[in-house]
Amino acid sequence: MSTPTLEIRPSDHPASPEARAQRMTNPGFGRMFTDHMVVVPYREGEGWSQGVLKAYGPIEMDPAASVLHYGQAIFEGFKAYHQPDGGIASFRPEANAKRFNDSARRLAMPELPEGLFVEAATALIRQDRAWVPTAMGESLYLRPLMIATEAALGVRPSNEYLFILMASPSGAYFPAGVKPVTVWISDDYVRAAPGGTGFAKCAGNYAASLVAQRQAKAEGCDQVVWLDAIQREYIEEMGGMNIFFVYQENGETVVVTPELTGTLLPGITRDSLLQLAREQGFRAEERKIGVEEWKKAIAEGRMTEAFACGTAAVITPIGHVKSRRGEWSVNKGETGPVAAKLREVLLNLQHGLAPDTHGWMTRIV
Ligand SMILES: *Cc1c(COP(=O)(O)O)cnc(C)c1O
Repeated sequence: MSTPTLEIRPSDHPASPEARAQRMTNPGFGRMFTDHMVVVPYREGEGWSQGVLKAYGPIEMDPAASVLHYGQAIFEGFKAYHQPDGGIASFRPEANAKRFNDSARRLAMPELPEGLFVEAATALIRQDRAWVPTAMGESLYLRPLMIATEAALGVRPSNEYLFILMASPSGAYFPAGVKPVTVWISDDYVRAAPGGTGFAKCAGNYAASLVAQRQAKAEGCDQVVWLDAIQREYIEEMGGMNIFFVYQENGETVVVTPELTGTLLPGITRDSLLQLAREQGFRAEERKIGVEEWKKAIAEGRMTEAFACGTAAVITPIGHVKSRRGEWSVNKGETGPVAAKLREVLLNLQHGLAPDTHGWMTRIV
């Protein structure tokens, strides 16, 4: 099967420049969408049909569509950034394309050709380039997803799917500057178990996380920290982000992130930061780290920072930790120099203010 190409069918009612400008002042995150979207249908036996770039709007679905019952739904998230010369580039879209297919396989969904994923993104960003914000920390957030659309209540993989790509102008996640968060270590809920869907970016993982996030809020915290399902000791992630710890050992700065065990989501920000940390002269390690170790390293003054990372918020420092096993602060509740440095290095790269020595930027226009 050859890779089908996209039909470009521009909207006959795009937002006026004034309406767009108004909606783009203080866009926040995920609250408004651009003029267009891409839709590509799939049918078992036929494969992917030709996709269409068309006006953004509601999609029609049969109430028996299996996604509504059994939850075959996966998604991705990545960003496109304004460049100093007026152009636009996206950050590591092919890594998202690859991870999308890792998620698809786990949920018994069809893989989407990586070329089609990147082509859809390129076409949408190009079409809606006026929606890409220009300020530092601002970007166009791309949200690809795939859902099972076959009308059938039998429990089996759907024979029909829809790939959708939408885009949303995204403001600086912390308009008032990066502010450390307070986290609640969850002893009551787990996000993922061995053999489950932890490594897949599937909607169900998020559905199952909401009650724990609500509990964290009730405990006066901003975010939940997940532990491993078996020993309930090893730290996995913070909310929908990966997590890093910074140690000072014999005059050396050591950056540690939990190793990928299959229950963690392999973040592209995580992967990028591991590489950038090494280039900054830090030692970077992927290994298990437990709650007891976290507490002890803080008490002994060996751990100087903790932070979370992901596409949406880039880097979020962790200032305070609460749990049934005690409370402690990290770096007196302040943003530390390693988190600040890595954030600056990554943002500069994404905004084209530093040379792209890794080949991570895909030029769109
Ligand atoms: C998407 C996601 C991340 C971060 O991945 P990035 O590729 O860095 O955006 C981390 N944890 C979970 C659970 C996620 O869904």
